[in-house]
Amino acid sequence: MPKVPAFHSKKPNTDVYHDNDKCTEGNNIEPENRVSGTGGRPRCHRCRSLD
Ligand SMILES: [Zn+2]
Repeated sequence: MPKVPAFHSKKPNTDVYHDNDKCTEGNNIEPENRVSGTGGRPRCHRCRSLD
């Protein structure tokens, strides 16, 4: 599946990072809240299942 560089949301109530462009959760992150990198967070369960 398409992999993208790790990114996460800087919103305080989020606690995972994403790395798949098919992840609806990752795609729901508003551009202004999207930060590149893992942020030291665990990987999103949805991104993991899309592998
Ligand atoms: Zn994800």
